[in-house]
Amino acid sequence: MLSQYAELCAAHEDALVLFQVGDFYEAFCEAAEAVARICEVTLTERSDSTGDYPMAGVPIDNAAPYLESLLDAGYRVAIGDQVEDAEQASGLVDRAVTEVITPGTVVEDDLLEAGTTNYVAAVAAGGGGAESARNDGATTPRVGLAAVDVSTGECLVTAGDTDTVAEELDRIAPAELIVGPEAPAFDPADAERGWTAHEYDPAAFDRRAATARLEPYLSAPDRRFDDDAELRAAGAVLAYAEYTQGDDGPLSYVTRIRRYDPRDRLRLDAAAQRSLELFENRGLGASDTLFDVLDETSCALGRRCLERWLRRPLVDAAAIRSRHDAVGELADRTLVREGVADALAAAYDLERLVGRVSRGRADARDLRSLHATLAVVPEVKATLAGAEAEISAEAGADVPRTDHLRDLRDRLDELAEIRELIDEAIAVNPPPEITEGGVIREGFDDDLDALRATEREGREWVAELEASERERTGIDSLSVGHNQVHGYYIEVTDANLDRVPDDYRRRQTLKNSERYYTPELKEREEEIVGAAERADALEYELFVDVRERVAAETERIQGLADALAELDALCGLAAVAVDGDYARPAIVDDPDAGVEIEGARHPVVERSTESFVPNDVDLPRGAVAVITGPNMSGKSTYMRSVALAVVLAQTGSFVPAQAASLPVFDRLFTRVGASDDIAGGQSTFMREMSELTEILHDAGPDSLVLLDEVGRGTATTDGRAIARAAVEFLHDELAATALFATHYHGLTDLATERDRVFNLHFTATREGGDVTFLHRVVPGASSSSYGVEVAELAGVPAPVVDRARRLVAADAGGTDRVTERDGDGDSRAVANDTDGPNTPSDDTDEQGDASLREFLADTDEGAETGDGDRGTGTDDGADLGAGAEVNGDVSEDASAEPGGDVADESPSDPELAAALREFDLARMTPIEALNALHDLQSRLDDDG
Ligand code: ADP
Ligand code: MG
Repeated sequence: MLSQYAELCAAHEDALVLFQVGDFYEAFCEAAEAVARICEVTLTERSDSTGDYPMAGVPIDNAAPYLESLLDAGYRVAIGDQVEDAEQASGLVDRAVTEVITPGTVVEDDLLEAGTTNYVAAVAAGGGGAESARNDGATTPRVGLAAVDVSTGECLVTAGDTDTVAEELDRIAPAELIVGPEAPAFDPADAERGWTAHEYDPAAFDRRAATARLEPYLSAPDRRFDDDAELRAAGAVLAYAEYTQGDDGPLSYVTRIRRYDPRDRLRLDAAAQRSLELFENRGLGASDTLFDVLDETSCALGRRCLERWLRRPLVDAAAIRSRHDAVGELADRTLVREGVADALAAAYDLERLVGRVSRGRADARDLRSLHATLAVVPEVKATLAGAEAEISAEAGADVPRTDHLRDLRDRLDELAEIRELIDEAIAVNPPPEITEGGVIREGFDDDLDALRATEREGREWVAELEASERERTGIDSLSVGHNQVHGYYIEVTDANLDRVPDDYRRRQTLKNSERYYTPELKEREEEIVGAAERADALEYELFVDVRERVAAETERIQGLADALAELDALCGLAAVAVDGDYARPAIVDDPDAGVEIEGARHPVVERSTESFVPNDVDLPRGAVAVITGPNMSGKSTYMRSVALAVVLAQTGSFVPAQAASLPVFDRLFTRVGASDDIAGGQSTFMREMSELTEILHDAGPDSLVLLDEVGRGTATTDGRAIARAAVEFLHDELAATALFATHYHGLTDLATERDRVFNLHFTATREGGDVTFLHRVVPGASSSSYGVEVAELAGVPAPVVDRARRLVAADAGGTDRVTERDGDGDSRAVANDTDGPNTPSDDTDEQGDASLREFLADTDEGAETGDGDRGTGTDDGADLGAGAEVNGDVSEDASAEPGGDVADESPSDPELAAALREFDLARMTPIEALNALHDLQSRLDDDG
């Protein structure tokens, strides 16, 4: 047995093999130690002629939780089942791996969350150096991506450059990723949801092998895909899926391999999904996500559909309006909506059921669930037909006639013959086993009924035997019984043995009694057992036949599943719209259309806030709103409510507002400043900047960009410079529509410098003894000393507030730069008050930039107090002389700037001083700024 185990292990090197021994799955040797540790089961020993081996096992009946622990611990588990009947085997029972359970390919309901998707994805490099062009003209290697949900058969294929594929991976959020040769590695740490990534047999990624693999799934695979990269990824992911399902050929329920272009959907990268909390809440307080708010679906199908929709909102105005039409019609008709929802609540997860049916793994209960789901269809159709009649009746008036619901109704395939087949064939409450009888209904098959009748008559005869034998023998204590080993017997106590008739044959001797059988009993018994065995076998055959007939309709059932799923998702959206008092947004299909929302609310925050203050939004296309105001005043919430309205509208939902008119955006970017992104765990300035880089690379006129406190993760001076440069670039070069919440108050003067930049702000008041934020957005910039005001409202002692106010006032008389600097200082103090301690990474950043910051700060101070310094010492004077001379050529420049005397305090290196003079961050793109800053830093370091 151990050598059989070793063989299976060798054939599945990348997996932990569990080996059926009776009622247990056992592991041996090292694997046993892992199983014992991870599953917390006892490590035992097994001995044979070759020695003692550690062994650990889990019960097959209740394997799910143990398998889950193994998957969580990063194992793939190969199930080595006994594939021949132990009783019939001569010698060792044959075992084979029937299934490899991996995080991305589990199909067991126990291991899958209801109503979710579970993908395994593959990435492959294109052959022949295929490349795709980027916005900036550079090319990157083309990468193919394919994902399959083995439980439902959904299969997606796409390709693009590395960034696009990384973004798609974030959306698909596969549980497992397999990587082909030469394919780029994707860092799971970058994604919100990690996945297990591993390399898989390079041969599966081979072009020829992939084509051959795909042939059973679709005709002419090499012509169906855009390029090699897609073909390879699709072939490999299916190879892997087949391998995990026990290698018995193509997965026939993978009927629709869908190629798509990520550009056909609103693109939301991981950062956007994360910061908008679409699916995962990262905040410290509230625990809801947009998906939680939106999920009013009735069944797993609808829930999964809604998740797909929300991960990939539409960009086609007509398609969006069509969903809005349907949501509107359902929202207007409470009875219809509730009727459909009630009916759908009885629907099972048809997608997973049909997957099991088609894999030949469905049991009788699954078929009954399928039947129960099919049974709701006529009811749903009737309800919808009623609604249509109503709509048509109203159509005479000014109700626009739409077809979305009617199309859906047409797609609801009743599959009556399948429903009837199951109903006639399968028992109403069948047992979980399909080999032990009880699964086929009486009246379905004559032979089966005859066998069952024989069995029943035999049992009845036996049941009556006791009475008749008591009468015949006169032994009142005589009893008839049955046991597993000896079968039927007649038991007579020792006291009555003398009355035992001649035809009794002894079967077994007990302490106080004897057990007998009669030739007739034996005959009857054989009849009963024979009939029962044949009936069980026949039932199994009939069951498999029914299952195959159902499997033959896989595509139709999948089509029905899709239609039910959409209907459920639409009903759910309608329920949310009604319950949440949402409005249907007008979708304006015009490249100049901007965002106009009356009374916009944040769908998640409004749920946990007693009195949410709605705000208006008027954001023309290509405009940048710079939003200032104290910490906790509502800036982030406001920006997100705009982005969420866009996401919701393009998903097909109504929006939480009084009224809304929205354009169709094709991409949505968000970036939350490192210091604000407390829950992120990776709050480094570097990360912030690389995400900013992506935005500045890829955003365009059809993008909506949210920047929240960007540039805060570093020293004030360069942070502010980067923020300003980024806004300018967004406005001047990209013409993106953007919202920028910032504590860099100095940015508000961009509104006077740029056409399409305007200011908004939030304020605070005091009510009772507390600072109160009005949460109401108002036009214009907030006061530069709002930090001091809030400090006062919050009860900072008067002398401190007065002193602060004097400092601000003094600065207000100085240069622009100084005002900004000190304003920032104040807001930081407030930030610390309300946000709690700074994150450690924040401090690290500060330290990392310390020398540069001090240097820059010194030069600023030089500007402020330059005169005083100049007369302080003769040593300085000497330096000054030298500096002044060398810097002669830049003095014109210098005099034009308020900080013209900077060079007085500058380091001895005249070149460096010159470079610094020309160092105008405000006119650089962020990337240039970063490079220039980095350059300066290294020169300073060289300088010692
Ligand atoms: P900021 O970004 O300005 O620091 P936030 O947007 O994070 O402020 O808002 C802070 C808190 O104020 C939110 O968590 C929410 O509880 C509350 N809040 C924000 N906007 C509103 C609003 N419009 N109505 C009611 N409460 C709000
Ligand atoms: Mg904020």
